[in-house]
Order: sequence, then structure tokens, then C-alpha cells
Amino acid sequence: MEAAGTRMSPREVLKRYFGYTSFRTYQEEVIDHLVGGGDAFVLMPTGSGKSLCYQVPALIRQGVCVVVSPLIALMQDQVDAVRELGIKAGFLNSTLEARQARSIEKIATEGGLDLLYVAPERLVTEGFMALLGRMNIGLFAIDEAHCVSQWGHDFRPEYLELGVLAQMFPGVPRVALTATADETTRQEIVEKLHLAKARHFITSFDRPNIHYRVEIKDREKDQLLNFINSEHPGESGIVYCMTRKKTDEIALVLQEKGFPALPYHAGLERDVRLRHQRAFLEGEGTIMVATIAFGMGINKPDIRFVAHLNLPRTLEGYYQETGRAGRDGEPADAWMIYSLADVVMLRQMLDGSPGDEHFKTIQYRKMEAMLGYSETARCRRQVLLGYFGESLPEPCGNCDTCLGNVEIVDGTVIAQKALSCAYRTGQRFGTNHLIDVLLGRDTARIRSFGHDRVSTYGIGKELSEHEWRSVYRQLVAGGLMKVDMEKKGGLKLSGRCHPVLRGEEMFELRKDPAPARKKAAARSLKGSPGAQTGEDREHFNFDPILWQRLRSLRGELARNSSLPAYTVFHDSTLREMATRLPQTPEELLTISGIGQAKLEKYGEIFLEEIRKHREEMVKTV
Ligand code: ADP
Ligand code: ZN
Repeated sequence: MEAAGTRMSPREVLKRYFGYTSFRTYQEEVIDHLVGGGDAFVLMPTGSGKSLCYQVPALIRQGVCVVVSPLIALMQDQVDAVRELGIKAGFLNSTLEARQARSIEKIATEGGLDLLYVAPERLVTEGFMALLGRMNIGLFAIDEAHCVSQWGHDFRPEYLELGVLAQMFPGVPRVALTATADETTRQEIVEKLHLAKARHFITSFDRPNIHYRVEIKDREKDQLLNFINSEHPGESGIVYCMTRKKTDEIALVLQEKGFPALPYHAGLERDVRLRHQRAFLEGEGTIMVATIAFGMGINKPDIRFVAHLNLPRTLEGYYQETGRAGRDGEPADAWMIYSLADVVMLRQMLDGSPGDEHFKTIQYRKMEAMLGYSETARCRRQVLLGYFGESLPEPCGNCDTCLGNVEIVDGTVIAQKALSCAYRTGQRFGTNHLIDVLLGRDTARIRSFGHDRVSTYGIGKELSEHEWRSVYRQLVAGGLMKVDMEKKGGLKLSGRCHPVLRGEEMFELRKDPAPARKKAAARSLKGSPGAQTGEDREHFNFDPILWQRLRSLRGELARNSSLPAYTVFHDSTLREMATRLPQTPEELLTISGIGQAKLEKYGEIFLEEIRKHREEMVKTV
């Protein structure tokens, strides 16, 4: 092992291999602890830089670092990416032919690897344990450690057997890493993986560069097209849909409009899924339209937006999905549109799902929290972090409610009208009909039920249909009304509405700001202090023409060696080049993301491109 003889310091490894000059929160502490032989449990959000926490010790400690990961389809990419950094890495999983596997095993036992990625089902076999016994192992890293949790959504039974590593290799430090936060999962990880002595490293779950925004679904396809066209043209993103059918449909709409969009869901053939995943990872500006089947382990750093076309089931899911945006720390959008019809659909799915009453009650509560988030008049980040047990003292300044001047009015009388309208009509109708009654419309339905004779007929003309929809959503979100699935999604009153009906409690109504204002506000965020990035600080010197040139050069190099573009250089690295115009290898080395291996492999080519660009600029001026 290269670094071992001289025993480089973590900081030297960080600069030499990764091209970074400073550690992020807790990285250095975790690294020191592992290098010193301790066990660790690392809980940090997606994109915070967990991989470095074991990759750096892997380069410092004697022996190979064995990385357990459930993401078989992504191992090749992970290995390619670290090899680009000059790290000696390999993987073992079921996609390899026996001959290839034997060759990797041989290299590993001969001490020729820094990192060995292994699928858990292989690791726990007897043969593999014997193989491990013949290796000099410096560290075990158990990635996506929440897969050990039987109640979680990513449960892998093989993870339960990983505890055996503690007995078999008592002298080898182990680190478990995850981005899944809740307390029960945390306890399960510690217990099942025998990490009782591990030191815990837990950071804030905030992702300050993500801008959260929720809008009301009106015409979803137009809204989506408008969002992508006006805010993310040519950029990579994920569009989450609730069903496979919708996924196919939206992908088609985007393709017809000329976007490089691809569908991904469990109903597609395995090789189609893999092809689409690869195209998304390798392409620039590809849009993945997907169900929640897509996403775990996708570490593409430059996903600029995550769009939800429906209300997700839980805030946990929502946070994980939106967290896939902006891993590189640059501004990114989490944009969602939803309607009350989503709530009805979710209820239907939930009622039809297997599971006992207790399970359903919990799921229903989670859905209410999700709805509460969507309808909140508070800072969205405060609500999100609050849900995960963290508190953010000040509003964030980088979400739609913070930027949109949400207006709150006393909506008690309005709420009373909406509630009594549902009550007077028998608590079994959905919003369309209730609004028709409130507005005093003359429909066949109203006549056939005699609802033109109820006391609430025509008493709501002061609000538009659109505004009444918002009122009903807020009543459901606030828990004053419930969606009654026995009555085909009709709205009924819940116990919590009585104080408002009696006028003892005020109902705070949020008026939706006009969409146009939201957009203006969203754009101005890029200059706000909360979201400051390299781009903001140095944009005076940023050369957009050079940036495009460097991007196409990167694309070409990546295609030639079948690598995702970001494994060559991240956007942020190219942006820094296009701002500082380095002229020598030494100058190039001072740019974030350029270490020794990248310099040797790509330095000259990029310097040459920058040189050519300068010359052409001089000629044209
Ligand atoms: P996680 O596994 O926590 O989701 P990753 O390990 O994939 O996060 O890191 C996210 C991104 O941040 C990667 O692109 C990585 O190169 C970058 N990164 C990690 N640590 C640093 C650092 N100290 N300085 C700059 N960038 C970093
Ligand atoms: Zn906010």
C-alpha cells in the first residue's frame, strides 16, 4: 500500500487523493477514531461525505478496507470512481464471472487493494469467511447500515449476520454508516452489528443548499414542463411519480417535448432498468422519471432538482428522496405539487395494503404529518427538521414560505362555513360537490340531492373555487376533517374541529401567494446569504463560454472510457476552473476536487483547453 510506508496524515490523503483542502463536519473526527482502531457509528444526511470517512482510513491503515454494500448494481460505478482518484479498489458480487472473481480475490489476499466492495450475501458465506481469514484486513465499513432494520423499507436479511464480523475479527475496527435517522433504527444497528462500544458521530440533518417548495397541482404536466424549462433547462433531475403507469406517461410527455427523459420502475425488465440507470448516471442533463423504486445509493452529485408529482407517503421518504438533489453542495430544488386527490389515493393504497390496524394507524399518522408539512405556513425546513427531532432556531430563508411572504388571516368563519357545508350534506361528499354547494351552483347532483335547500347553499361566494380547495386542504392538513374511505373519499368532520365550529379557537388560514411571485422569490435565493456557493462568491470572473467548453471536453473524455461524467470532474471543479483560469499544474492542484491522480490523468488536457480558449478570446477582442 502506497501511503502506508510513509503513513500520510488524513489531511495529506485528503489533498493528494481527493483534491480537497478541508474536512467537513465530523469527517476528521471519524477518520482519526478509525485510524486509531476504534469502532464508529456514523449518522449523517445524504451528500454529507460519509464515504470519505472510511476511504481515508483505508488509505492510512495497513491492510484492505472491506466495504459491505447492498447496492450491487452500483458497485462497478463506485469502484470506477475511486479508481479515478488513484485508489486501488475492486468489488465482489454476483455480477462477476467466476474467473473475474478469483482474480480479485487473489489480488486482495496478496495485499494489492485499498478498498474491496462486497455484497452482504457473499460476505456471510463460509467460503468467503475463510477468504477473509487469509486477507490482511484494516477496516470493515458497513454502508447503508439501516438495511439491518427489519421494520425499515430497505431490509436485507443478510445484514443481520454481519454481527459475526465482531467475533471473527475482534481486532479490526468497524464503522457502520447510514442516512436513516430514527431512533429505533439506530438502536437496531448498534445491537445487531455488535457496535455497543462504537463512538457515535451524528450531524445535523439539514441540507442548506436545497430549496424546498410546494405548490398546488393544477395542470401537472404544464406545471412540470414550466418548472423544468424555466428553472432547470439542460440539468439533471428526478421526477417522482406515485404509479408505474404515471411514470411511463410523464416520461413520454417529457420525451415528446425534447427532454432526455427515461422511465424507471419495478415493472420494467431488469436490463432496461440498468440501462436507464446507467444513462442517467453517465449522461448530462438526463431526467429520470421514477417511482420510489429508484434512488438508493445513487450518488450522482449534480442532480439539480427532485420533483414530486404526488404527495409522498411519509416525510421520511420525502426527505430521503429530495436529499438526492445537490450532493455537491450547489443550489438545488426540491419541488412538489399535490392535491387533495393525492390524499384520497394514498388512503386507498393504505387501506388496501397488507398489515394490521396498528400498522395502518401509524402510516396514516405519517401521512398526516406529510400533509401538515405541505400546508404549513411556517418555514418548511423548521417543520422538516422538527419532525426528525432537530430544531432550527431561525427560519431558513431558503424555502418557499420563507421567501413567499405567506399571508395568514383569521379564517375561523370561512372554516365554519366549509365544515358546516360538509355536515349539512351528510359528511360523505368530496370537495368538488361541497364547493359547488358553497358557491350556490346549479348542478344536476345538487338538484338530485336537494342540496340547493341546505342552509350552506350559496353562502361561500366571497371565495373562488380555487380558494375553497385550499381551505379544505388546510382543514384536512390541520386534522379538522378526515378523508372517509368508506364513503369513497368523502370528507367528514373530526373531533378536533369542534372548538373552531364553536368559535372558541381561531383557525389560521394561509392565503396562497400567487405562483409568479414564488418563482421570482425562488430565483432571488441564489443571491441570498443562506445559499452562498462558489458561483455566488466568484461569479464576476466566471467565464460561461469556457465552462461550456470544459463541460464538453469532460463529456468526451467520460464517453471514451465509459465513465459517468462526474467521475472525471464535478461541476464545481469545472466551475472553479472557468473562474480562475489556471495555467500551470501547480495552479490546477489548488482547485477543489483535483488530486494527484486526476492531475496526472487529465491535467494537461484541461490546461490545453484553457490555453486555447484564452488565445481565441484575445483574438476576438
Ligand atoms: P454520502 O455518502 O454521505 O451521501 P458522499 O460521500 O457521496 O456523501 O459525498 C458527497 C459529495 O461530497 C461527494 O461528491 C464528495 O466528493 C464530496 N465531498 C466529501 N467530502 C468532501 C470534502 N471534505 N470537501 C469537499 N467535498 C467533499
Ligand atoms: Zn424556510
